Formats: sequence, structure tokens, C-alpha cells
Amino acid sequence: MSGDDLFLGSESGDAAYRESMERATDAVVDILADGENPYTGESAAALADLFEEPVLPEEGAGLDAAIDEAAERVLSHSVATSNPRCAAHLQCPPMVPGLAAEAMLTAANQSLDSFDQAPAATVLEERVVGALCDLFDLPDGADGVFTSGGTQSNFQALLLARDRCCGRRFDRDVQAEGLPPEAESLRIVCSAEAHFTAAQAAHHLGLGEDAVVSVPTDGEHRMDVDALDATLDELDARGDRPFALVGTAGTTDFGSVDPLSELADRAAERDLWFHVDAAYGGAAALSDEHGHLLDGIERADSVAVDFHKLFYQPVSCGALLLRDGDDFEWMARNAAYLNPEDHEDAGVPNLVAKSVQTTRRFDALKPYVAFRALGREGLARLVDATLELADDAASLLDSTEDFELVHEPTLNAVVFRYRPREGMNDRAVSRVNAAVRRRLLDDGRAVVARTEVEGVTSLKFTLLNPRATPEDVEAMLDAIRDCGDELAAERGVVA
Ligand SMILES: *Cc1c(COP(=O)(O)O)cnc(C)c1O
Repeated sequence: MSGDDLFLGSESGDAAYRESMERATDAVVDILADGENPYTGESAAALADLFEEPVLPEEGAGLDAAIDEAAERVLSHSVATSNPRCAAHLQCPPMVPGLAAEAMLTAANQSLDSFDQAPAATVLEERVVGALCDLFDLPDGADGVFTSGGTQSNFQALLLARDRCCGRRFDRDVQAEGLPPEAESLRIVCSAEAHFTAAQAAHHLGLGEDAVVSVPTDGEHRMDVDALDATLDELDARGDRPFALVGTAGTTDFGSVDPLSELADRAAERDLWFHVDAAYGGAAALSDEHGHLLDGIERADSVAVDFHKLFYQPVSCGALLLRDGDDFEWMARNAAYLNPEDHEDAGVPNLVAKSVQTTRRFDALKPYVAFRALGREGLARLVDATLELADDAASLLDSTEDFELVHEPTLNAVVFRYRPREGMNDRAVSRVNAAVRRRLLDDGRAVVARTEVEGVTSLKFTLLNPRATPEDVEAMLDAIRDCGDELAAERGVVA
């Protein structure tokens, strides 16, 4: 291949682009989309054997060959996220509008760190952020930025919270001077079922994971407000300094939503930054039926929301929203080569100052195209359908003898256990469920998750696929039974 057919802008380059995109698109449809099972079941070792040839040969094989090879070896052994029986994690089937947007944004290759690298993208990202602030009923003056996902959003929110606290309470400019002596006593409060990235952020922020104080949850897996009050009193009495309260809107295992209004009250009384991790549950805001789950989110200082989960956009795509856009000042940055003075004078947005990234993808195009294509109602129908399917799955599990529902789902995560024999003890149940999950993946008929609930290994469906039906859920239960029977026959695990 020569430069002429490697780059856009010449007749042969443009033709090569069309042809290779078509080749790649055909491969996605033929190999990935229409397979019978969500996975081929290859082991890591077998996959390693597939990729033995040199990654960087002296001479290339040509683009067609390279695409075909990637299709045969990589796509065919990928988990088919669009298969209704791919139901393990918060990994969505990406919707076609998002895939089309992804193709455009990748080809345009805009980078959001400066206006002259991304003119329309810069302006549009701010518009999309504005629409999201409206979706969560944040007030005028709210602002935000796109991120790589919940991890980065949670980190950045807690960074701003920490630095605002240190600035206001200890007159310390953390950006310039680093942490103040009082940092030893800074605390982040979240529920015991908050996502691990809250603790990870505490580490990355130099506070240490021990700075995270976990509040017990109630029977619904939501933060227990009485326990929160007791925790805050205790921290006060000890001279510890909580600065941030993290509410979770959609826990990973149960989809439960903390009582956000009560948390907002506590945050206001105690001068805490109130962050809501709505990476999973934020999409409920689209729905007339389920939007109430998020009541109180409009009082948050910051909100993390992921589009690569219940908004059905391809990875990666997330956003951090701030109630008061001025809070970005705690990480303000001016790089003369990215935002020259004459840009500032002309009111050109300076997005690099709002992000922990420099070069940054134009991921906002994906929700933009999806929003314009489907409207709020169209998106809400998808969310509503999967929440309904989760309820159906729960009823189905309840009605069987050999399965038990661990908890009524709040969103679309359904946690359950396979208990093939009545009276089977928890250790045996743990063993069987763990073995069945592994067998399912090896067999490729269904991809389900495992989790621990009160020390007992359980299984989890995360039913994100709007095309999935109760019959698909039933098929997965049958696959679990088959695996259980096979294991019993082979090893006497169940028998
Ligand atoms: C997925 C998730 C995260 C992590 O987000 P990434 O997009 O994977 O970085 C954090 N919190 C919650 C509640 C999540 O569901």
C-alpha cells in the first residue's frame, strides 16, 4: 500500500476507505451479529495460539488480508454483545445510531482539547452537556464534560470536591501547593455497596482508600440513612473531616438507588459535596415511568453518567456534570498553545481546562445522534422494556423450584441462585453456581455474571438488551440446568 491509498483526500484513498469500511461492516454483520451463541467458548490459551504469528512482520500482508484476519480471529471470538443471551455485565448492545456516529467521529478525528482541533465538536459537546444538565434538572450555571466513563467521572468529581474543600476550609490551593496537613483527616462517605471506583479515586487523590467510610445498606441495598447520620456524628466526634458524600443511583449488583433526597439533605446540613454516581441508573431520567427513582439527583453537586451502559452507546462514552460550572476552576489550566488569549477574548470554549485528559475523543457525537434520531421517548421505551424484562425474569425465577431470586430488581440487574436440590447448603450452592458460570462461558450458550451475596456465590443477569425476551431468559435458565446436570454427571458436584 502507498500513501495514496492509506489516507483520505485522494481518489484512491477515498475508494480504499469505502471498500475497507464495507469489508469491516460486512464482517461485523456476518460474524458477530448473527452468530447463534454469544461466545465460541475458546479458552485464553486457545486464543493465544490463534495469535502466534508476528504482530509486526517485516512486510505487511495488505489491508484486505489484515481485515479478514481480524474478522476471523478476533470478531469470531468476541462476546457478541448484541446477542440476547449475552447478559453478564453492564455491557450494552451498541445501538446503530451510536455505531454510525462512532464511524463519523473516528474518521473526523477531532480532538476536544482545543477549538482549532474541533470547532463544531467543541460547540456541540457543550450543547449536549447542556441537554444532559436539563435531563437531570440541574439549575442554570450547571456544566459538564465528557469522560471515558464512570471511573473517570467519579475520580474527577472527587478531585474537585477535595480541592474545593481544601480551598474553602483550609485556604489551601491544592493545585499549586499539594495537600494540606489536614488531608490526613479528610473522608469520603459512601454506601457499602458503592462502586469500587470511589475507593480507587481516594487512592489516586492521595487520600488513601482508608479515607473512604462505608455506610451500611438497608434490606433494599440502599444506603441506610440512620446509619449515615450515626456515621457522620461519629466522624465529627473523632475530629475526622468528611468532605464528600457519594450516593449511588444504580449499584452494580442490584441496581439499587440510594435515597438521594435524604442524602442531599445531609450533604447540605454538613457542607459536603454531594456526588451522585449514576453511571448505571442515570438513564432512568429518560423514562416517565421510572424517572422518580432519581428524585433528589437535581440537588447533586456532581453527577456521573455513562452512555455506554443503559444509553446503548459504544464504549467509551460517559459524562461528568457539575451543578455549578464554576467548580471547574479547581482544575483550571491554561496552555498557551491550546487556548491562546485571542480565543479567550472571543469567547471560544476552552474544554481542555475541564478534563483530566488532553487529547480527547468526540464521544458526545454518539448520544447526540441517538438523541436526535430517537428522541427522549424512543430512548425511554428501550429503558422501560428492559426494566420490564427484569421484572418478568424475577417472576420466572420465583416460579421455579430449582432457582431462587435473591432480590427483586430495581433496574435490570437480576441476582439469583441455582439450587438444584432443596436443602442444599450454601457452600454447595456456591460451588455449583461458580462451576455452572464457568461451564456456561466454556460452552458459549450464555454469558452470565457471578457475584457474592452474603458470602454465597450467586449468578446475575444484567438484562440490557431491548431485543431480549422472556424466552431468552428461559433459554438461559435451561442452559444453566444443562450445565448443572453435566457437572453432576461428570463430577458428582450436584448429585
Ligand atoms: C460502570 C460503573 C462505574 C465505572 O464506570 P466505567 O464506565 O466502567 O469507567 C462506576 N460506577 C458505577 C455505579 C458503574 O455502574
